[in-house]
Parts: sequence; C-alpha cells; structure tokens
Amino acid sequence: MSSSVSVANENGVAVITVDNPPVNALSFHVRKPLYEALTALRDDPAASAIVIACAGRTFVAGADITEFGKPVEQPELRAIITLLETIAKPTVAAIHGTALGGGLELALGCHFRVVDAGAKLGLPEVKLGLLPGGGGTVRLPRLIGAAKALGMIVSGSPISAGEAKAVGLADAVVDTDLLAEAVRFAHEMVYRGGPFLPVRDRDDRLAGTDLGALDRQAADLAKKARGLDAPLACAEAVRNAITLPFDAALAAERELFQKLVSGDQSRAQRHLFFAEREAAKIPGKDLQTRRIERVGIIGAGTMGGGIAMAFANGGLPVTLLETSEEALRRGLATIEKNYTVSVSRGSLSEEAKQQRLGLFKGSTDYADLVDCDLIIEAVFEDMAVKKEVFGRLDAVARPGAILATNTSYLDVNEIAASTSRPQDVLGMHFFSPANVMKLLEIVRAEKTAPEVLATVADLARRIGKIAVVVGVCQGFVGNRMLSARGAENEALLLEGATPSQVDGAFTDFGWPMGPFQMGDLAGLDIGWRNRKARGQKAVIADALCEEGHFGQKTGRGWYRYETGSRETIADPDVEALIRAKAAELGIARREIGAEEILERTLYPLVNEGAKILEEGIAARASDIDVVWVDGYGFPIGKGGPMFWAGVAGAAKIVERLEHWHERTGRPIFEPAPALRRFAETGAWEVGDARQFVIPARSEA
Ligand code: NAD
Repeated sequence: MSSSVSVANENGVAVITVDNPPVNALSFHVRKPLYEALTALRDDPAASAIVIACAGRTFVAGADITEFGKPVEQPELRAIITLLETIAKPTVAAIHGTALGGGLELALGCHFRVVDAGAKLGLPEVKLGLLPGGGGTVRLPRLIGAAKALGMIVSGSPISAGEAKAVGLADAVVDTDLLAEAVRFAHEMVYRGGPFLPVRDRDDRLAGTDLGALDRQAADLAKKARGLDAPLACAEAVRNAITLPFDAALAAERELFQKLVSGDQSRAQRHLFFAEREAAKIPGKDLQTRRIERVGIIGAGTMGGGIAMAFANGGLPVTLLETSEEALRRGLATIEKNYTVSVSRGSLSEEAKQQRLGLFKGSTDYADLVDCDLIIEAVFEDMAVKKEVFGRLDAVARPGAILATNTSYLDVNEIAASTSRPQDVLGMHFFSPANVMKLLEIVRAEKTAPEVLATVADLARRIGKIAVVVGVCQGFVGNRMLSARGAENEALLLEGATPSQVDGAFTDFGWPMGPFQMGDLAGLDIGWRNRKARGQKAVIADALCEEGHFGQKTGRGWYRYETGSRETIADPDVEALIRAKAAELGIARREIGAEEILERTLYPLVNEGAKILEEGIAARASDIDVVWVDGYGFPIGKGGPMFWAGVAGAAKIVERLEHWHERTGRPIFEPAPALRRFAETGAWEVGDARQFVIPARSEA
C-alpha cells in the first residue's frame, strides 16, 4: 500500500489504517490509496468486514484545506463514500480524537460508527464559510433527524461521543481499546448477518420531519447569520435532504458548495483561519519560556475584573489589588455577579463557579504580589498613575516576574522606563469584556526580552486568546485605526447624515452595530471624559453629554430608549441639535448616501492599516485583519480590512481617498505609499518585521 494508508487482516476483518500526520487530513495521497484499498476489499472473500481507523492522535479531522479552491484530484472524497455505500459487507468507522468535516462524512459512508469515549464529532465547514460538501447535509439528517442535523451543521460545533450515541450518530461508545472493540463489533455484525443498510437508504428518520418547524429554525438562523451565506446554504441543503430524492439532494448540496467555495465570503473566512494561526507564530519561539503559575492584576475596574476572570477561567490563580477595601469589594462583587449570570444561563455549573471564585485573592497591599509571576496593570488611563504603579511593582515584584500594562493608548516604552527592569515589561492590551473577547494585542516595547514575549504568547493560548504581536505607537494597531476614522462619524452627521443612516450603512456592511449604537451601549460619558483629559473636542457628542445623554444607561444618547429596552429610537431632539451645530459651523447639509458613508469610514481604516504596515507596527497585513475581526467585530465574511481592500479594489480605494483628501484636506485620506503599491502589485508587502523577529537564544 502507501505510507499513508495500510491494510491488515484481523481474523477475517480488514482494518484500513490512515496515517497522515498531524490530523489525518484527506489529502490526495490518502484518498487515492484509500479508494484502491476499498475497491480491492469490496470483493475480497478473505475480508468479511471492513474497519476504517486512524493512526496518531485523531481520526480524520477534515479535508486538506490547502486543496480548497484548487482543481480536485480524483478520487474525491465523495467517490470514496459512494464506493463505501456499494459494499455489502459491514463497514465500521473506528473514531478517536476528532472526526471533523470530511472525516465525519467518511464515517457517515460506513454502516456503523464505533467511537472512543473521549472523541468529538462535528461538521465545522460553516466556520470556513462553507457547507459539508461530501454528503454530510444529506446523510446526517438520515441518522439523527433534520432538526438536530441542522443545529450541528449550522453551529459547526462538535458533539461528544456520549451525545453522538444519544442522537444515533454513534453505534457504540468504548473506553477501552478502540481498535479491538471496533473489530469485535465488526465480527458481531458479520455473525448477526445482513443486509446492512447504507445511511443513504435510511429514510425512516426523515419521515416525521416537521417542515414548518424546520423552516422556522432556518428563518431564525437567517436573522443571526447577519449577511453570511453559508448558514443559509446549510439550511437549504438540509431542507433538500428531506424534500428531494437522495441523489438529487446530493447534487444540490454540491451546487451550493461550489457556489460558496468560489465566493468572496468563504475566501475571506479561510483567509482568517490561516491568519489567526499565522499571527500566533513568533519567530524564534523555541526560546525557553518562563513559568507562570499566579497572576496579579492591579485595578479591579471594568478591565481588571474581566482580565482576572479570563485567567481564572483558564485555571490560573489571581491576586487582585485595589486602592481601597471598598473598591476591591466592588470589583470582586462584579466578578461574582458575572459568574452567577453564567450559571443562571446554564453556561456554567454552580460547582465551576465556586471553583473559579476560589482562585481569587483580593488585596490592597502591594507586598501580596510577591508570589506573582505576571502582574498586569489595569488602572486609570493616566501616565502619572501608571508610572507610580510600575514604580511600586518594581520594588515588590520578584526578579524575573513579567510586568504588563493594559493601556489603550499610552507609550509602553515610557512605562517600561519607569522601572529598573524594562526587559520584563510589555503591553497586554485586552478588549472589553476581557473575559469574553478573544483578541489580545501583545505590545512589544523596545527593550522587552524575547522570552518575555514568547512566554506571554504561550500564556495567551493557555487562556484561549488569539494573540497578535504589535509595536509601540499611539493606540497600537486597533485603536490607532479606530481613531483614524473616528472624527469622520461626526463629520458625516454635520454634513447631512443622521445617526441611523450611518449605523444602517455599517450594519448593512455586516458590522454587528454602527458607531453611534456602539457609543450608546458603551456609554458616551467615557469618551467625553477621555476627550476632556486630553483637551480634545467632539462637537455633537460633547453637547449631548452636557445634556446628560450618556447612552443606554440614561435612556438617551444618540438615540432614545424605552426603559429596559435596547431598541434604538430616532430622537428628533438629537437631529435638531445636529442641525443647529451644523448651522453654527456654517456647514451646508446635504443628502449623504450609504456609499459615501462607507468610503469615508472604511477607506481611512485601510489607509491607516497600510501606514501601520509601513512602520512595522504590525508584521503582516493578515495580523491587522485578525485584530479587526476578533477585537472590533469587522464582519468575518469580509475577511478584515486589509483582505477586504483587495476584494473592493485597492485602485478604487486610492482614487476615492485622493478625492476625499482633496475635498477635506484631512490627513487620514492621504493615500499611504504602501496602499499605492498594493494597488499596483495586488499583494500587501510584509511589514518591517524586524521588531517581531525574536533572535535565537544564542543571539538573545
Ligand atoms: P476603570 O475605571 O473601570 O477601572 C480602573 C480601576 O483601577 C478602578 O477600579 C480604580 O479604583 C483602580 N485604580 C486606580 N488607580 C489605582 C492604583 N494606583 N492602584 C490600584 N488600583 C487603582 O477603567 P478600565 O476601563 O478598566 O480601564 C483600565 C485600563 O484599561 C486603562 O488603561 C484603559 O485605557 C485600559 N483599557 C480599557 C478598555 C475598555 O474598554 N474599558 C479596553 C482596553 C484597555
């Protein structure tokens, strides 16, 4: 056979073993010998049954996604499954680790599935903007019913072996020797005798399907999909599985798959899949990392509390330090309340809540931080306060402890310089709410030691964060780009748009909400306070705050809110205020369309991203995409601002930026040289990544 597929005979049962590390993906060099083995075994009298198993740590965990978008070499997975279904002798998939995507579809081609108790089974294609294209949408409903299949396919989340058994996806769950048990199961089936019905012919589960309920489930999904095509295509495919004959449903699934795989959305989602993995790679990461067993957090406010929860959720004990017992009590009470909400929603058990709460230690004494391996500062955004805190940390932290700041905008080099150990200092910029948001910007300061960076990158993974290493500048990658376009939102209002027009253009583009809805949710007073501290102004927002419009919490902001409701209601007073301010400033108002709104808010984002690349603040354009998708809700189906620029057409973006630059004179519209070059070459250059390359230990 080949090195990827081997066949053995266990007392008359043929055992096919796939061995394609690391995850036994269904690459061409697996598919071909697998097809040949099945062809040979189908009519081989020496084999009374066939078991398909995998070597290594998992069953087939999916298709080889590097082959997506390229011409497929025969045999395709579908041909293998079709072949499997022509085999009269019992076929058994022996599943351990994960059976995902094409892996589960392969298993669905077998008569039976014997599953290790620790295994997980799922169809995650939707997360790449696809649907299961190897018959998964047509076969899974025949095993577990349409409603459950739709839920599994649209969530993309795998289920456990136990759940698989309960719904009828697994025929047996074993917690001893999987292969031996699968062979035993096969023998038993031979003994019991056929005929064995392939999944394609098991229509009994479909008979009672409530199509109306299925359509309601699909309509619900459509609402949640927010412009993504894949979840809707999944729903359509599952519906076809009920209403069309098997082969017609299979053909329809293929058609839907082809449409998705060649579309921009799936391209964008696959780009992000690789971008997230790439972002985590830090050159030279074979460096020895430091041990992190206990984390200290300074400040138990919005961010400190959330960050503390993120670590406790990852199983790490946390010491939380505040300025007073009162502030500490408040912070800890908020944490407890958040966990209680999770328990009441059913996403956390009472036991887990108690376990997590047990990981917190509160203190008002810096001396209690002496046993912390990492200390993260999350106090007020004020350089003097931060420096004072770092001075005190320098005095008490043990040698080798890592000191991090969660600052949003301040200079991490300056903060590091206020200690005697700048090599141990870096930025860890979490996003709010920090226990929920996946993104972590790791800010490398000039003197941050390589192994400190590597340690924090590892730690990020331990607590389930997606880390992107960035350089020092005001606002780093995310907030710097956000600031670049921030003033434009108000300018649009003054020139003629309404808050709901601007927000509508954003949500139509695929953002979860627009900037004014976002402002009302977060509280307008926060930005107001920050502006006052920095001597900045925002004509309309300041006037709103002066009138007590702080957003949802006061029932009025950019919109009005009924008590207890989050639904935005246009506020004629706000619109009158906008008109009055425009008149005061001598700005003639005019009709502003959605296209202009997008041009003036998205193009500066791309432009600032190009500048960030040029300056080496980010190492790759795809890192910027990860920051925006995982930290700011940039629509995943658009792939992040830098990817989207390529789809939207960089030449057009440059031309429109020039137009707006000429009209407004604002520097945010002046096209960056890197953007001009992108428009010419079609590829983003790699940022000046020198500061991200961690030298090998001998050089460090
Ligand atoms: P916050 O006002 O909610 O919390 C700050 C906390 O720090 C307060 O509880 C205060 O009592 C405490 N504190 C102040 N001085 C202290 C000191 N010397 N020692 C110990 N505790 C002290 O503020 P926040 O929103 O949590 O922001 C904290 C930091 O995180 C800021 O630097 C901010 O820029 C940054 N940040 C905020 C967000 C956000 O969305 N809120 C996001 C990312 C980063």
